[in-house]
Amino acid sequence: MRILVVEDDDGVAAAVLDALRGRGHGAFRAATAAEVPALLPDAELVLLDLGLPDGDGFEVLRTIRKASQVPVLVITARSAERDVVTALHLGADDYLVKPVRLKELMARVDAVVRRARAHSADQVAEIGDLRVDLAARRVTVGAAELQLTGKEYDILAALARRPGVAVSRQELLLQVWGRADKSVSRSLDVHLAALRAKINRPGLLATVRGFGFRLGD
Ligand code: CA
Repeated sequence: MRILVVEDDDGVAAAVLDALRGRGHGAFRAATAAEVPALLPDAELVLLDLGLPDGDGFEVLRTIRKASQVPVLVITARSAERDVVTALHLGADDYLVKPVRLKELMARVDAVVRRARAHSADQVAEIGDLRVDLAARRVTVGAAELQLTGKEYDILAALARRPGVAVSRQELLLQVWGRADKSVSRSLDVHLAALRAKINRPGLLATVRGFGFRLGD
């Protein structure tokens, strides 16, 4: 995992980077708040020291949260409970109070990584060899990526969020079009026919007679 370590103290930063790299992570450092925005897009996890020379760590956390949902583990010398609460309210995933014990830090990193992976797994639905990446809006069947129209994707995603569950026509229409009148109902049938042809897995996108549709068993 690519981990951004935001830490102004050279000694602490070196120890943390070493420990992370020793566990197979790709760790890199920002020594100041100003360096964070440029490095953020490469980060899959951020370790953020709240005490930085050029800016308030809370402000950095706000900036990160405006740009990204990347997990953030806050490290703070301020042991005051209200700072911890503020950090969590601002979207930190976890926190550690300095002085940091490396063993504990690595355990916390592992836990955040596990949660992040479990969360991203929720964002991908796999039904047979059909794979719907709900975060990236990408759909593959086997090795082939499907080129879907916006509506085709929206219909598929609505069903893929609940594989094996029958979704009523009405609910599907409301989710995709925001209304459920006759004209959009006809559109749904047209899009479904196109979608089934593109997926090309007979029976996978099933009609539940008199009710709606179901993706997978
Ligand atoms: Ca510091």
